[in-house]
Amino acid sequence: MGGGPEPPASSAMRTGTETGQIAAATPLLIHVHKASAPSDGHNPLLDPTTDTVVKRVNRYAKARRRALQMASWIADNVPAGSRLAGGRDVRSIVQDIEGCGNLLEFQDATAEGDTETRLSAGKFCGKFRLDPLCAIRRQARWLRETLPKLMGVIGPYLASEPYATVQLMTPTIKSGRSLHRRFAHLTRSWRAWQLDRRRFISSKSPRAQYTELSRVAGGVFAIEIKRGSGSKQWHPHLHAVVLCEAPLDQERLQSEWRRITRDSFMVDVRDLYSLGGLRSMPDTADEAVMMSLADDLQEVVKYAVKFGDMTLRDNWLVERVVFGRRLRGSFGNFHGIPMDTDQCCDDVFEDRPYITRVAEWVGDSYELSTVEQFQPDEAAPF
Ligand SMILES: [Zn+2]
Repeated sequence: MGGGPEPPASSAMRTGTETGQIAAATPLLIHVHKASAPSDGHNPLLDPTTDTVVKRVNRYAKARRRALQMASWIADNVPAGSRLAGGRDVRSIVQDIEGCGNLLEFQDATAEGDTETRLSAGKFCGKFRLDPLCAIRRQARWLRETLPKLMGVIGPYLASEPYATVQLMTPTIKSGRSLHRRFAHLTRSWRAWQLDRRRFISSKSPRAQYTELSRVAGGVFAIEIKRGSGSKQWHPHLHAVVLCEAPLDQERLQSEWRRITRDSFMVDVRDLYSLGGLRSMPDTADEAVMMSLADDLQEVVKYAVKFGDMTLRDNWLVERVVFGRRLRGSFGNFHGIPMDTDQCCDDVFEDRPYITRVAEWVGDSYELSTVEQFQPDEAAPF
């Protein structure tokens, strides 16, 4: 969603946030309590400036509004009976999006002053390129599950090689009018380059063709699809975070990319933002340094589509063109770490007391209307 400002809480939301008392545990989604406001009139739990559930729900509501616009656009513009590659009827896709995220269950657990919020239940459509809510949720799950694994490779590698660094490499291809052709060209070329790397690394022959990519120990990559800012032509491109023994040679990269693509040479390469300007090697024992690296990494692979910058018509075209295609991947040292997840929910708290709250979609916003408290020794709500 491009990280824009949060929309103000709707009136429905404000009504919902006036509920405050913590009621006795009852099965959720069956009995919904609307408790009265606390006697002092203020409950920090429900303050939109501090309450993480309220903040999240506001963000999700903005995402959901866009998803519903997308569903309406498809229903109005795509002929009935049309199917995506893979045979999915577009009407069922519309229904899935419309039913996505109607009811969300959160768990808030506070320990030592810090509150951790998890989205513990909800029904999601999983249309990550059509629905920003699912895209946000998938990224959250990726952050929790995959990022630590990637960092578990990066830290030891940086510590073990004297000049090792983490670089951001962005090969781009010439923009064009056909997204289908430009996307296929990008993915084919990137595959060919990776194949060159594997051949050179595994070849024992002194005559094997050198590639600068052979100095990359491992990488993760993500394809982003957008139109160019000037020409407005399609400009799919790829960001790769690569681990290398020393900074890569940009001229070599560009000449290799030109040889492979025949029409494009632009490859940007630079130290990952948090390493830019560092005079010495990153201190992998420094938690702040590693957190900053992790932050950069997740920014690079964030979203294949920036919904805020894309029209509904373009968004649908992207879905048609890339349906069933993998837009993220890993190789080398990161091989085997899955970059995709279908999971949209977090794992539930099992060993900490938590407060459960439910957000229900009411027209054009969410209403938070339930506050329940559970202790770990109580039975699970359902
Ligand atoms: Zn969805």
